[in-house]
Amino acid sequence: MRATVMFGAGDVRVEKVPDARLMEPTDALVTITRASICGSDLWPYKDMAQTQTGRRMGHEAIGVVESVGSEVRTVRVGDFVIMPFAFSDGTCVFCHEGLNTSCVHGGFFGTESVPGAQAEAVRVPQADGTLYVLPGRTDEALMASLLTLSDVMGTGHHAAITARVRRGGTAAVIGDGAVGLCGVIAARRLGAERIILLGRHPDRIALAEQFGATDVVSERGAEAIARVRELTGGFGVHSVLECVGAGDAMLTAVNIARAGGAVGRVGVPHYAATPGSEPAFYGNIGINGGPAPARAYIEELLPEVLEGRIEPGRVFDRLVDLDGTPDGYRAMNEREAIKVMVKP
Ligand SMILES: [Zn+2]
Repeated sequence: MRATVMFGAGDVRVEKVPDARLMEPTDALVTITRASICGSDLWPYKDMAQTQTGRRMGHEAIGVVESVGSEVRTVRVGDFVIMPFAFSDGTCVFCHEGLNTSCVHGGFFGTESVPGAQAEAVRVPQADGTLYVLPGRTDEALMASLLTLSDVMGTGHHAAITARVRRGGTAAVIGDGAVGLCGVIAARRLGAERIILLGRHPDRIALAEQFGATDVVSERGAEAIARVRELTGGFGVHSVLECVGAGDAMLTAVNIARAGGAVGRVGVPHYAATPGSEPAFYGNIGINGGPAPARAYIEELLPEVLEGRIEPGRVFDRLVDLDGTPDGYRAMNEREAIKVMVKP
C-alpha cells in the first residue's frame, strides 16, 4: 500500500510500504476514506532530523473497518468509524474518567511504533476502545466535520473546557490555525459572551468571525497583551485558549488572563519551562490542558455536527489525494492553506 512518510524537515514523500495488517487480537484494520494534515505535523516538518527510515505520518482519519482481530467485540467489519488521534482501551481507570489520552494501554498514531493514517489503510490498536462507530448512512457533506472530531474540534473543545469557559464569561483564543478556529466554535458553544481571537491571517480571521469571534487582535507580544486588556476593562479575560504551543504564545496567554482565570493549553509545548509562572502565581491563574481526550468528546460533539449546529469542517480549505500530501504540507507550512484534507 502507499503511505505518507516524513524523512526529515521539509522532506515528505509518498512511499510504497508493507500493507497494514492485524498484529494483535485487539486490532482493527481500517481503510482510510479521509485523513488530514495537522498543525502539529508541521513541527517535525520544520525541525525533524533527517532519517533513513522516516516516520509514517497522520493521526486524524475516518474510514471503514476492513477486518478485526479475534478479541474485538463491538467494532465490526464494514463499520464507518472515526479514528481519534490517540488509541485507548476504553476500559482502564483513565478511560473511565474520560481521559483516554492517559490510557494505560494507549498511545498515539503517527509515531515510530504505530504508523499513521495519511495512507491507504491503518492498523488501529485497541479497536473497541479507540474507534467510534458512526450510526447508519452519513451525508457526504458532513465528512469534513466528522473528520475534525478525530482531533481539531475535540482539541479546541478541550482548550475551552480546561480554560474553564463559562456562560457569560470572556475568552481569548491564541492562534488562528484549525485548532484555534475550533476553539472559537467551542467557546461560543459553551456560552462565552465575548471571544477575542489573536490572529493575523485575513482568511482565518474571517472564518473565526463567522464561528463567533467578537473581537480580533492582530498585534503580538506586549502590544497584544495591552490590546486585550484595553478590550476587557484592564483586567484580561476569564479564559484563554492557547492553541499554538510556542513560548511567546504561552507568555501572552498568562498575561491576558484575568486574576482567577485559567489558561487551557492544547498546542504541543515547544518550551522547556512554562513561561509566565510568576504572573500566573500572583494572579491565581490556572494553567491547565494537554492532549485532548478526543475519543471521550465525540459523544458530546457528534450530535452537534449531525444536526448542523456546528460546522468545524469549514476549517478545511484544500483537498488533495495521497500524491498531493507533500504539497499539502508545504501549503499549510506556508500558510497558503488553513487545513488540508487527504482523500487517498
Ligand atoms: Zn484506557
